[in-house]
Amino acid sequence: MKITEVETFLLDIPLKQRAITDSQTRLTSVEFIAVRIDTDEGISGWGFNWNYTKGSRAVQVVIDDNYAPLLKGKDPLNRKVLVRELFYTNHFIGRVGITQVGLCAVDLALWDIRLKAAGQPLWKYLGAHKDKVKAYNTDGGWLSWSTDELIQDMTSIVDRGFDAVKMKLGRPDPREDYERVKAVRQALGDQVKLMVDVNTVWDLKTAIVWGRRLEEFNIEWLEEPLHPFDKKAHAELAHRLDVPIAIGETIYTKYDFRDYIESGAVDIVQADCTKLSGIDEWLDVAALARSYNLECIPHTNVQQKLHVQLAAVTPNAPMVEYCYESLVDIWENPVRVTNGYYSLPEEPGLGCKLTDDVLKTYRIG
Ligand SMILES: [Mg+2]
Repeated sequence: MKITEVETFLLDIPLKQRAITDSQTRLTSVEFIAVRIDTDEGISGWGFNWNYTKGSRAVQVVIDDNYAPLLKGKDPLNRKVLVRELFYTNHFIGRVGITQVGLCAVDLALWDIRLKAAGQPLWKYLGAHKDKVKAYNTDGGWLSWSTDELIQDMTSIVDRGFDAVKMKLGRPDPREDYERVKAVRQALGDQVKLMVDVNTVWDLKTAIVWGRRLEEFNIEWLEEPLHPFDKKAHAELAHRLDVPIAIGETIYTKYDFRDYIESGAVDIVQADCTKLSGIDEWLDVAALARSYNLECIPHTNVQQKLHVQLAAVTPNAPMVEYCYESLVDIWENPVRVTNGYYSLPEEPGLGCKLTDDVLKTYRIG
């Protein structure tokens, strides 16, 4: 099989709900890079990556200028060789960030070709460990919600069958965070798992003081409390607190995960395939976490269909985040949650193609 064409699509897809906020971002739309790789045997593979700020046009340039010329004429089934070759085109323009976002999109398209040729979805091709995947819900609890809205939001999510929910922290005064968690815990009762997410904005002192105080509310984990590059501070925090520390959505290589894990700086490994170089590296990180008896619970917001399949083949991946419900129907055959569990896709391939209507309506480049 030979690659004949590589086409990229830059999209900006608006949320079908009011703006949502965490401690870093106010979000009204999501950028996507979609990649289609054609072959001489009539199979086309679709990959993607996403971004909730701006700048994905730079990713498109990297794929078009660096990766596409190297891919054409090659056998797409030699994915590991190709991904390594693409990585080495990035020598002086950055090993992670824009280059890796594009590399992952290509990796996913190459996987899609592999899976379509094999006639199976990812999770069956790799060997299933479970046939349904538990969901936890992050689609409420936004930082700009009032406390009343927050409680209404979280209780309605639980009423829909979710027994694990996450809320955002990181208001300028941590006392407000404390009061909001207190109110939500009182409203939900003790049986619902409650996670909190700081999105990296606390310093170590704040995290030690307020992380400790929040422990009285039986928090399942404290997510991204500190600057994501500061492994030393995370290790210090994990040593000081009883509440598990979760991190991963802004960690970009298995080597960084190794260093976090080895130093005891992380308890819940939230590896995101779209922030790593793709599926193979995600599987490496999940296996690494397993060898340290750590759970790997992937970060996700628009890419649930990818991560539920990865969780389905991973013994130490007990659940997957559920978020951005208003964007679920941008995908062909999206996975859905019923009574707190994701369905798994049955169609051959990776299953991460945006609908033709979305590709046409929201394309900006
Ligand atoms: Mg998070």
